[in-house]
Amino acid sequence: MTKEELITKHKQYIFKCVTTYYKDPLVIDHAKNQYIWDLDGRQYLDFLGGIVTISVGHSNDKVTAKIKAQIDRLQHCSTLFITEALVALAEKLAQIAPGKLEKCYFTNSGTEANEVAVLTARMATGNYDIVTLRHGYSGHSQLAKSMTGMHTWRKGGVIPYGITSAPGPYCYRCPYGLTYPSCDLHCAKDVENVIQTSTSGQVAGMLCETIQGLGGVVVPPPDYFKIVANIVRNYGGLFIADEVQTGFGRTGKKWFGIEHWEVEPDFMTCAKGLANGVPVGATITRPEIADAYKGLMISTFGGNPVTCAAAKATIDLIEEERLLDNAEEMGTRFRHGLEVLRERYPVVGDVRGMGLMQGMELVKDRTTKEPATDLANQILERTRANGLIVGKGGLFGNVVRMSPPLNVGKADVDQALAALDQSFAEVTA
Ligand code: PMP
Repeated sequence: MTKEELITKHKQYIFKCVTTYYKDPLVIDHAKNQYIWDLDGRQYLDFLGGIVTISVGHSNDKVTAKIKAQIDRLQHCSTLFITEALVALAEKLAQIAPGKLEKCYFTNSGTEANEVAVLTARMATGNYDIVTLRHGYSGHSQLAKSMTGMHTWRKGGVIPYGITSAPGPYCYRCPYGLTYPSCDLHCAKDVENVIQTSTSGQVAGMLCETIQGLGGVVVPPPDYFKIVANIVRNYGGLFIADEVQTGFGRTGKKWFGIEHWEVEPDFMTCAKGLANGVPVGATITRPEIADAYKGLMISTFGGNPVTCAAAKATIDLIEEERLLDNAEEMGTRFRHGLEVLRERYPVVGDVRGMGLMQGMELVKDRTTKEPATDLANQILERTRANGLIVGKGGLFGNVVRMSPPLNVGKADVDQALAALDQSFAEVTA
C-alpha cells in the first residue's frame, strides 16, 4: 500500500481518538537501533523511543535473537503452566527491585499493572481510597483514567468514588504559588490534609509516577516522596510508585526512578521499557502484600514466555552494557545542551528531567508562563523535517519530551541538539 492509502485506511478503520503526530502523519516502514525509516526511505533519529519504550534500540540484535529463539521453543501456554522464561524474569526483577519487592504479577500493559496494584492494595489494607496526583497519567482503562490528573485523558466518565487527587509537585507552576526550597515542600505535606478532608480518613494507598511523563516531565523536589510515603503509611495505605516510564535505567544511574528519592515503595508498576517494545506489564510488591490478593486470577497473555524472554534479555543487556551509567552520562550531556537552548530561546521556559528522560516547557512569555502550545506543535513539525523524532506532553501540550534509547552515544545527543537548535531557530525567526 502507498503512504496515502495507509493514511486513508487508518482514518477509516481505526478509532478517531487514536491520534497521530504531525499534520502529515508519519508512516513508519522499519527501524533499527536509534533510527526509524519512513515509507519514502527517509531516516530519522528517534529521540522519543516509541514513547519511552525502546530501551536498547529498535530491533536490538541481541534482544531480538533471544525473542526469536523463544518463539521457536514455546510461544504461549498461559499462567496455568510454569515456564523457565517466566521464572527467570521474575527472579531477575526481584534482584534489581529495591528492598523486599520480590513478587510479580505479569500483565500486558502499564494500565493493567496499575489496576493490579490498586486492587491488591485495597485487598491488603482493607481500605478503599486511593490518592493520586494532578497532572499524572495512569493509563486508559476506566480506573486508570480516574487516577489520571488531566482532563484531556479523562473523557467519557470516570469512576466517581474512591480516587482523590492531590495538587502535584509541579514546581514550575506551583499550585500553591510557592518556590522551592522556601516552600518547605508544602505540596508534600498537604497530602495529609487531602487525606483528612477528601477521603474516608483511611487509605489503600497513593499511586504516583516518580517523574510525571505525559504530564510534562514533572520532577518532584528532593524529599517529596519521603514525606508523602510517610503520610500515606500513617493513614493505613501503601505507596505505589508508577515506574512505567522511569523504570529500567531511564533516569540514569539507578534501575528505578524512586531510588533517586531514597524511598522503598510498597509496589512498583512497570511496562514500556521493560521489554524493549514487546507488550508487557508487571506489578512488583512484597510477598505479604502479594499474598493478600484474594480469589482467583488469570491473565491469558500475562507472563507470556516470549514477552518474558524479551524482558529478561533487555534487562541483561542494560546490565552487560552498563547502560545505567550511559543513561546518566548521555543524559548529563543532553541536559547541558538543552540548558544552552534555554539560554538562546526565550520560548523555552523550563528544562527538566533526569537521565535520558528530559522535557522543555515552551511558553509565550517567561513572566506570565502562558503555555505556547502552537509552538510545541511547530517544533514537532520542524524537528521531523530536520530528521529528529521527539514527543510532546503536558496538560497544555506545550512540553517537548525526549527519551531516546539508553544506548545512544555522544554523536546522537549532539545531532539531536543540533536538530533542536535549528528547529527553534526556524520557528522563532
Ligand atoms: N503509567 C504511565 C506513567 C504511563 O506513561 C503510561 C503510558 N503512557 C501508563 C501508565 C499506561 O501504560 P500502557 O499505555 O502500557 O497501558
